[in-house]
Amino acid sequence: RGKWRIMENEETEPHVLIFPFPAQGHVNSMLKLAELLSLSGLRITFLNIHRIHHKLTLHTNFQSRFSRFPNFQFQTITDGLPLENRPIGNFSDLINSLKSITKPLLKEMLLSGELGPTPTCIILDGLFNFIFDVDAHPNIPVFSFRTISACSFSAYSFVPKLIEDGQLPIEGEEDMDRIINGVVGMENVLRCRDLPSFCRLEDPFDPRLQYGVTQTIQSFKSHALIFNTFEDLEGPILSCLRSRCSNIYAIGPLHAHLKTKLSSEISPTASESNNGLWEVDRSCLAWLDAQPPKSVIYVSFGSVVVIDDDQLREFWHGLVNSGKRFLWVLRPNSVAGKDGVPAELEEETKERGYIVGWAPQEEVLAHKAIGAFLTHSGWNSTLESIVAGVPMICWPQFADQQTNSRYVSEIWKIGLDMKDVCNRETVAKMVNDVMENRKNELMGSVIEIAKLAITSVEEGGSSYCDLERMIKDIRLLCQ
Ligand code: UDP
Repeated sequence: RGKWRIMENEETEPHVLIFPFPAQGHVNSMLKLAELLSLSGLRITFLNIHRIHHKLTLHTNFQSRFSRFPNFQFQTITDGLPLENRPIGNFSDLINSLKSITKPLLKEMLLSGELGPTPTCIILDGLFNFIFDVDAHPNIPVFSFRTISACSFSAYSFVPKLIEDGQLPIEGEEDMDRIINGVVGMENVLRCRDLPSFCRLEDPFDPRLQYGVTQTIQSFKSHALIFNTFEDLEGPILSCLRSRCSNIYAIGPLHAHLKTKLSSEISPTASESNNGLWEVDRSCLAWLDAQPPKSVIYVSFGSVVVIDDDQLREFWHGLVNSGKRFLWVLRPNSVAGKDGVPAELEEETKERGYIVGWAPQEEVLAHKAIGAFLTHSGWNSTLESIVAGVPMICWPQFADQQTNSRYVSEIWKIGLDMKDVCNRETVAKMVNDVMENRKNELMGSVIEIAKLAITSVEEGGSSYCDLERMIKDIRLLCQ
């Protein structure tokens, strides 16, 4: 553990402690929330797992980007895993280590004052509510921040009821298209295959499913719930959730919210906003500059998904056979058992494609050459695609992604769902559908939703007002 920067003054103003789960999508969105709160004048301590923070500080602009905030400090804490561990690695090892090492350390750091004045509240990543010992700090209210969509959060919350009603477990492959009833607000929307992925486990009491459900139920018990979403996207689900938890703030899309705020205050250069755990390869932007408008499909499966060699080849042949240009992110170690892209694929890709290890995704999606996004349906990627007005092909892999992709295709109608399929014919067909045959229809609806997203974070918009309300509520806690 260690201090990164000393606070400038230590008066009695509100002090917010923010603690994300150690994974890319979580750190990324919670950093954006931290910046937004800091811009509003709140004192912020951002507590980061040391090995994650170490990677962030390797980016050249990282320290200067935060030094402009007078009352912002980073602190780090260990999760007991080695520096070189993959961001998540083995999930149960990580959770055990967080429970046995990080939890008592956090308690000690809070009691000793090492994190600064006693926080007015803690904004805790709702994926690990257990990390904060409520009994040891009864006067610090917990705001549970969920980095997933409200629809998938809601689906998780109904799992105990689905088990009780006998709708879970799923009875094998042939049961996958059965319609699930009983998730309030989502009637006739979800099939078994659209439930959060852990519902596919044969044993409904498997610790992996129970973990997600327990953290969800725990989030309802916190002082408040925060979602990275907006009313015009998930309004009906949010109102169902509000009947179960009165204090909900929907303040997303956070990246657009921050951008809007910054454009009226300071304007960072694009590279300054990199919260990635890998070095960004900006050469793809120059490659995109040379491509015709809306001619490129961007392919990325986020920061955790690992594909196997067969899947790599099905995607590669599908993309090549589609006849479209593509920009593909293949992180180091993201193809099981392979060090990098097989040489023969890399060579042939040059004709119409470009491969990078990590892209400046927000900038890529906003580039005029991008016509569609083949995504794993992580919630950050989904929101970034929506804001950029880019239709999606969804290939969800785990957790909330299965539910997000259902909403993308069936409710918002801004993409196609390729769930549970991975063959070159389907890839080629879907690429052509989204970029040609169904382009107008999908593009029309995503642009409509993009406008609503932007309006929500502008002055008077729903997310803007919810953030203002949250800041006011935090200030009131101090009085
Ligand atoms: N991302 C990026 N460059 C890449 C791939 C992903 O900056 O090459 C970012 C992306 O913009 C998003 C995050 O990584 O903010 C991935 O989060 P998401 O919730 O979509 O998926 P996860 O990685 O959590 O599965």
